[in-house]
Amino acid sequence: MLEDTVAIITGGAVGIGRATAAEFVEQGADVVIADIDDETGPQVASELGCEFRTCDVSDYDTVETLVDGVVEDRGRLDVIVNNAGIGSETSLGDMSLEEWRSVISVNLDGVMHGSKAALPHLIEVEGCIVNIESIYGLRGGRGAAAYSASKGGVVNFTQQVAVDYAPENVRVNGVCPGFVRTPMTQALLEQGRFYEFIKRRTPMDRPADPEEIAPLIAFLASDAASYITGANIPVDGGWTAF
Ligand code: NAD
Repeated sequence: MLEDTVAIITGGAVGIGRATAAEFVEQGADVVIADIDDETGPQVASELGCEFRTCDVSDYDTVETLVDGVVEDRGRLDVIVNNAGIGSETSLGDMSLEEWRSVISVNLDGVMHGSKAALPHLIEVEGCIVNIESIYGLRGGRGAAAYSASKGGVVNFTQQVAVDYAPENVRVNGVCPGFVRTPMTQALLEQGRFYEFIKRRTPMDRPADPEEIAPLIAFLASDAASYITGANIPVDGGWTAF
């Protein structure tokens, strides 16, 4: 359970972030959704009973202002879930340098920004970081050069920061989802050929719903996970076991 827990969830307006915000609120947390989408974000926050703040995770100053603002208002920060991310389905030869930079700046820099800005506050309360990664951070993802590199970077970043801050009792973990039905994957999953590939490649024979990812994120953020740090855990219907 997450009572007395102040949590920031980046990219919480839709998809996995939204399901995570709902799970955290259900478990008693005081949640701030931080998202670039300032139309959907405030509606979702008011539906779930939490707060919305606008934030572009690729810009460090904005992230620091967000985190410091939450701590100023709430007096503490216990958890940051670095979930905001963008998709990219381009192989190296076809990929522009702009696409590479944009994916890395949100998916990799964004996780570092959230973690760095939160760290001093997390040290104060022995809090934790949960990073949302991907099976494509553990294996090469077909046609996803920048995305796979960004997620692989976050997987190793998670282990590294976990090692450095274990003595301060700040836990740092990651979750590696397989394919999940969200706005990010909607168009892909609507392509019959791609959907068949997912079914063939996933032992459980289907993509996940975001509500199947959120409980692990909440568990890692809770005291029940007090001895877990530096773990990157697949939630993938068996994808990485195959
Ligand atoms: P989504 O596209 O459905 O939602 C992403 C959210 O992040 C949106 O609300 C968007 O507005 C927000 N966002 C995007 N750029 C941002 C920025 N610069 N600053 C702040 N917010 C920003 O994505 P999703 O499928 O829910 O994915 C969430 C996370 O899970 C991502 O990191 C993604 O890479 C990862 N993931 C998704 C899947 C999947 O199949 N859907 C699989 C593995 C990992």
